[in-house]
Amino acid sequence: MNILVINAGSSSLKYQLLNPETQQVLAKGLCERIGIDGKFTYKPEGKQAVKEADVAMPTHNEAIKAVLDALVDPQNGVIGSMKEIDAVGHRVVHGGEKFAKSVLITDEVMAAIEECNPLAPLHNPANIIGIKACQALMPGTPMVAVFDTAFHQTMPPVAYTYALPYEYYEKDKVRRYGFHGTSHKYVTQRAAAMLGKPIEELKLVSCHLGNGSSVTAVDGGKSVDTSMGFTPLAGLPMGTRTGDIDAGILEYLMGKYNMDIKEMLNIMNKKSGVLGVSGVSSDFRDLEAAGKEGNTRAALAVEVFEYGVKKLIGSYAAAMGGVDAVIFTAGVGENGGNNRASIVSGLEFMGIKIDPEKNKVRGEEIDISAEGATVRTLVIPTNEELMIAIDTAALAK
Ligand code: ADP
Repeated sequence: MNILVINAGSSSLKYQLLNPETQQVLAKGLCERIGIDGKFTYKPEGKQAVKEADVAMPTHNEAIKAVLDALVDPQNGVIGSMKEIDAVGHRVVHGGEKFAKSVLITDEVMAAIEECNPLAPLHNPANIIGIKACQALMPGTPMVAVFDTAFHQTMPPVAYTYALPYEYYEKDKVRRYGFHGTSHKYVTQRAAAMLGKPIEELKLVSCHLGNGSSVTAVDGGKSVDTSMGFTPLAGLPMGTRTGDIDAGILEYLMGKYNMDIKEMLNIMNKKSGVLGVSGVSSDFRDLEAAGKEGNTRAALAVEVFEYGVKKLIGSYAAAMGGVDAVIFTAGVGENGGNNRASIVSGLEFMGIKIDPEKNKVRGEEIDISAEGATVRTLVIPTNEELMIAIDTAALAK
């Protein structure tokens, strides 16, 4: 079964054609600068990547058309015709409280996704445009929506309720939703396989640490708490996002510098996090290099981030009444050996201890626990496209 996975943003679109049964990726790539000057990247399996600039892509329709043309191209294509695409899986950021799992897309589902637009005004409308463009070009092909928020719908009220007047939840749906659900679901399933135990018997803390970061407590295969909130601005300090801060700071700074809420949120989303503290970069590799050269603010930025992750591991162990394994995934989680070592240092009292040699391994699933550790520490490369393809194939059948 060939599944086309589409992750549409406002001006970009990532795609992958893969077979979820064999896990083979036939081709993947990226359309960028949609509506501007159109850049197209296409990488068929086992062949050189094709990159084209100035491809006419006034809308997502032309971008998807370019993807489909490349997939069936006589020279560089990987399938004979579009009929060989059995279904399309779409990443959708926000499913609100309506979607606790992936769903086959119908007119009613589209209307319900649109109702979630106010909860993710930057992301959901772009996802919807991607779906509509595919529907127009591939009528009759089953389409599935896979939501970033769905995995977290198992959280109990005690974890998702904000201490605001309750009517804001009842009337306006203001609550913790959580994000990165597809990644947390994938790595926790892989962790159960690695540990050789049914996921129902495991308490796991999943640390998705990338440009955006979130930590999730997964008890018995269900998300029971997560660090992102009503929006992906909450929780850990990230590349450029503040994570949790005292809301009182907003009034103080807005008053002092005569900023409106838009300017304040722009600072909190784009100019804060490790970039804001360091003044150097949002990229953890740059920060590590700068820290080694004696830049104390770069070192502090990384420490603030690592300290945040450490505290979440401890608090989620408390929330679940124990933990069997801690999982590291995404850019920093998979590659940042020094970051992992700093995060878990001091957690020996909980039974967490890593082996410095194993901690050097990159890009593969590995148990990096030291001998005698009673809580396992696992590095698991995430694969959101595969998870989307698996869900899509199951629903399309
Ligand atoms: P996104 O959240 O955008 O999907 P990724 O999961 O790809 O991001 O993570 C990107 C981040 O991973 C980069 O900002 C970079 O800081 C970090 N990263 C990549 N390689 C390393 C490394 N070797 N050491 C530390 N951090 C790394």
